[in-house]
Amino acid sequence: MTDPNYYANMYNAYEKKPKKIRVLDSTLREGEQHPGISFTNKQRIQIAWMLDYFGVDQIEISPIISKDHETSTKTIIKQGLKADIVSHGRALKQDIDISLKCDAKWVAAYLGISDIHLKDKLRITREEALKRSVETVEYAKSHGLKIRFTVEDGSRADPKFLMQVCKAIEEAGVDRISLPDTVGIMRPIGMYNFVKKVRNEIDTPLDAHVHNDIGFALANAFAACDAGVDQIHTTIDGIGERTGIPSLAETAVALTFLYKSPNDFRLDMLMDLSRLIEQYTSIKPYDSKPIVGSSAYKHKAGTHLAAILRNPAAYEPIPPRIVGNRRRIVFGELAGKTGAAYLMSLLGLEKDEQSAKNVASGLKNLRMGDLMEIPLEDRIEKKIINDK
Ligand code: ZN
Repeated sequence: MTDPNYYANMYNAYEKKPKKIRVLDSTLREGEQHPGISFTNKQRIQIAWMLDYFGVDQIEISPIISKDHETSTKTIIKQGLKADIVSHGRALKQDIDISLKCDAKWVAAYLGISDIHLKDKLRITREEALKRSVETVEYAKSHGLKIRFTVEDGSRADPKFLMQVCKAIEEAGVDRISLPDTVGIMRPIGMYNFVKKVRNEIDTPLDAHVHNDIGFALANAFAACDAGVDQIHTTIDGIGERTGIPSLAETAVALTFLYKSPNDFRLDMLMDLSRLIEQYTSIKPYDSKPIVGSSAYKHKAGTHLAAILRNPAAYEPIPPRIVGNRRRIVFGELAGKTGAAYLMSLLGLEKDEQSAKNVASGLKNLRMGDLMEIPLEDRIEKKIINDK
């Protein structure tokens, strides 16, 4: 057995012929709703190009926010990217008109359908909401557009009304329906049941738009896929309203390695995408953030160092270079004998068992925590193994 993940994959039980799960990236729409973020026109275009090159299927942007956003939307649509550019707005003819002005081919319209949204946000009745939904879809279709409809706050809507809306917009010719967990209240089995209910009666392709308020966004996105969704909404680094939505990096890596979805992602761009957002927003992903965090591939404890120096797969699910990150080892009081021996070999010192032990206990007695970090590339790692 050469694959260290062999038995884990057995438990993961992915299908022999896994279905393709698509990705819609909403960094330019949901992402701009993150507190403190406002991209310039040029930045939006750059982000769109990079997302397209990375390999997402759809890119969402909202032209209705401002004239500036309208210009960005129009310019990005003109680029002729491979990904569909989805022009996002409310379920109103006037918003569809703005998308039409931008030469959009794909539009997205949203309408809150839970009682709290109808009563306290929109102040309309269910009948009016149903009528508005159908009219918006019909209007978009009569203009030759593809339309995705988001039944906003769907996870908290009366299931009877949810199904009534879904059936009515399907009848009106909607191209995709987005099932959102707008306030991030679902647990994975709940998200599964919510999607399954719709999937059982609706043939239209489904999206999952899930929020991370309690930390379940990524798990819920994949529970939705298990129940029949074939497109996940992401943003770079997961930025968005409040605590955001699934991050592109985590979603793309999970799709590739855990779900074996046949996407064509350039995963080694993930660090660059994250850095681009950091540069444009000065929001840095927290150190321990999966995939792109600065400590995602740092190894510290002595027993871990000893194993990593022989075979990094002992403590890594996938090699860091695949996602553009770097492996580092942290030397300090936890380094242990093997870590100390490695440090001595880097310094060109003779390393015998006893001196390595002495250095290790010296590091421990210093009580200074972490002393330094060293990148550990595959090249070096091979040399170490060969030296043994
Ligand atoms: Zn959202």
